Amino acid sequence: MAAKKELQVSAVENGTVIDHIPADKLFDVINILGIEHTENTVTFGYNLSSSKFGKKAIIKISDKFLRDDEINKLALVAPSAKINIIKDFEVAEKKTVSVPERVEGIVKCVNPKCITNNQHVRTKFVVVGSEPIVLKCHYCEKLTDQEHIVII
Ligand SMILES: [Zn+2]
Repeated sequence: MAAKKELQVSAVENGTVIDHIPADKLFDVINILGIEHTENTVTFGYNLSSSKFGKKAIIKISDKFLRDDEINKLALVAPSAKINIIKDFEVAEKKTVSVPERVEGIVKCVNPKCITNNQHVRTKFVVVGSEPIVLKCHYCEKLTDQEHIVII
């Protein structure tokens, strides 16, 4: 198993591999990272079997090294994700997702009366809980918890 996994990961010469994404969160991850706008080569694996989740997804982005702030956005939808930075077909660095302190413009506020749901105002939250994640709206102070996180 281990050898096979190394092969999957090292298929990228230089870039980022995001592994252990729960399969049903793949599209949220694509959205959060803005992958649909990238010009880099992106390869997806979907519904791969995983001992942890049953089904997982994997994303490989060539010639892109995700910054820590980009990686930490994943905490909102795929806190279990593992990031491998690949250089010359080898894992140069492994990173794990950590919950950011602030979240801007990614998540919708739960409060239908919030200004961000009624005018063109970018959402802004302070992260007040990490397991599970709880976001406090900068404008209306309502709390959005993990179960109610909707990615814009
Ligand atoms: Zn709000």
